[in-house]
Amino acid sequence: MTFDHDLKATVRTIPDYPKKGILFRDITTLLGEPRAFRRAVDELVHPWAGLKIDKVAGIEARGFIIGGAVAHQVSAGFVPIRKKGKLPHATVRIAYSLEYGIDEMEMHADAIHPGERVILVDDLIATGGTAEGAVKLLRQIGANVVAACFIIDLPDLGGAAKLRAMDVPVRTLMAFEGH
Ligand code: AMP
Repeated sequence: MTFDHDLKATVRTIPDYPKKGILFRDITTLLGEPRAFRRAVDELVHPWAGLKIDKVAGIEARGFIIGGAVAHQVSAGFVPIRKKGKLPHATVRIAYSLEYGIDEMEMHADAIHPGERVILVDDLIATGGTAEGAVKLLRQIGANVVAACFIIDLPDLGGAAKLRAMDVPVRTLMAFEGH
């Protein structure tokens, strides 16, 4: 597919970052390319054109950049999901699994009202541990998680399948083999 090829070519791959054996998929090159950035946002929101979306929730930190643009595009509010200790008001918190050990993420308890239609956004889904935590956090405060979208999927790591098993429709724009 031409579109996939063009957009994929704007992602830079850095071997052995942040540690040996990891192929880091760097989207700063995509973001820095005006047509690629617009195209990625347009394509991510395509299935929801004309549907009512109340909030877009973005995962710190690259999910803020893409999620902010997506929220603007669908005329929704934006809600940050952050590492613990960063948000100033009352929060809800959840532990989630990382490759080694666990961490915690938070959002403001009053950021989303029960029943609101929410799209979750991040740059990349790998094992799905981060996104799974975010979906649970959103559901904990009563959000209706309409979809999760990511520019990049690493399907061999099973994250997108994990979210679909939680009844969350997943949209991704390109896939890379391996991890
Ligand atoms: P996971 O929880 O395993 O799905 O990991 C997803 C999170 O880790 C996202 O916020 C990504 O930005 C980041 N991440 C994981 N693997 C990579 C990779 N190969 N290249 C770039 N970012 C990654």
